[in-house]
Amino acid sequence: MIAQFIFIIVLAAAVYLFSKNVAKIRRNILLGRDVNRSDQPALRWKVMAKVALGQTKMTKRPVAAVMHFFIYVGFIIINLEVLEIMIDGIFGSHRIFSNPLGGLYGFLIGAFEVLAVLVLVACVVFLCRRNLIRLKRFSGTEMTQWPKSDANYILITEVLLMTAFLTMNAADYKLQLLHFEHYVKAGSFPVSSLLAPVLPNNASALVIVERVCWWFHIIGILCFLNYLPYSKHFHILLAFPNTYYSNLNPKGKLTNMASVTTEVKAMLDPSFVPETTGEPGRFGAKDVTDLTWKNLMEAYTCTECGRCTSVCPANITGKLLSPRKIMMDTRDRITEVGNNIDKHGKDYHDGKALLGDYISREEIWACTTCNACTEACPVNINPLEIITELRRYAVMEESQAPASLNNMFGNIENNGAPWKYSQADRFNWASEQ
Ligand code: SF4
Ligand code: SF4
Repeated sequence: MIAQFIFIIVLAAAVYLFSKNVAKIRRNILLGRDVNRSDQPALRWKVMAKVALGQTKMTKRPVAAVMHFFIYVGFIIINLEVLEIMIDGIFGSHRIFSNPLGGLYGFLIGAFEVLAVLVLVACVVFLCRRNLIRLKRFSGTEMTQWPKSDANYILITEVLLMTAFLTMNAADYKLQLLHFEHYVKAGSFPVSSLLAPVLPNNASALVIVERVCWWFHIIGILCFLNYLPYSKHFHILLAFPNTYYSNLNPKGKLTNMASVTTEVKAMLDPSFVPETTGEPGRFGAKDVTDLTWKNLMEAYTCTECGRCTSVCPANITGKLLSPRKIMMDTRDRITEVGNNIDKHGKDYHDGKALLGDYISREEIWACTTCNACTEACPVNINPLEIITELRRYAVMEESQAPASLNNMFGNIENNGAPWKYSQADRFNWASEQ
């Protein structure tokens, strides 16, 4: 009874904390401007099924795709086993699904064990790629300190969880062979039975091993759950809504700015009455709250995989720009804004902004707007949208654009074209020599 009571308290505390942190992230995302992404629901479901569920964009790098698939399937399927652990923990039962599922139960436990080994292999490969082979994609100025440790923490935790799961099963298997009370014959143990010889033969010692691993496994999973909102691994939840709300326009199509459209209409038609929707917003974005909620959702969905940066022509040619850093900076800044609201109230402003304090002007003007980053992203994130909004602010609110662009703006204003020829000379090329 005491164990059940402790388990219920721990479970309730973990679920409460997780819900609280998820609600905070949701609130932060909704600090962004509104954008309508509810059109074409059938196509949206299809994109989500293909990109998030089917992981089709991962396949461009087959080794990573296969390893990631093991971890992804392991994560989803092993949740069935976690459900059983939770019910057992609450009611004090042992392997409660074994009776109702009959023969299928043995098959499932066997399949979980095979999956656990595949997850273990994938985690070890990923750890080697990051720490021994040191793939270039996982390096960069933005990938030091916390982002570097974050990936390692989660991989090591998964190794420990899978090891605890297999050791727990091995002890259970041995106790079943000993016909020890409570440990009824249930399940098949194709992997853990191989571990059984290294465990003690004494029933009391086996019970201790089984219980320690059981508690370690479930507490580890609850800690993992509560770690997610602080980690890039939150993408395992957000990848689904993020791909559902993807931008369905052709890549490269720039959105019109409503504020500019209104001004042009008012200029061309004196009888035009603009819709009044409260305070006029900024042109472009200076801070995260000028971005849309979708941009902010993308920031929380970024897996920090670096696929965008590895194909970015600006980054490849040594410029300061890294699209991954754009997303990480946006996430860090919106988290800071959210924390400020929690501490000082919603009207507090810390005097900082995304442009300038997090992302420099050199970075945004290094972008060629090629969209390679958007194409490469496995979860349909669009760093270019954020860069474009920051540029719009720099040009339209601060009049700060590179000299080459200022020349072009002047030409458009005076000549109606980006070139430095007057409109009267435009047809000279066709005149006879
Ligand atoms: S759109 Fe900009 S940030 Fe994205 S890959 Fe091209 S140059 Fe890099
Ligand atoms: S934006 Fe996409 S491709 Fe770039 S690091 Fe994040 S998840 Fe990876």
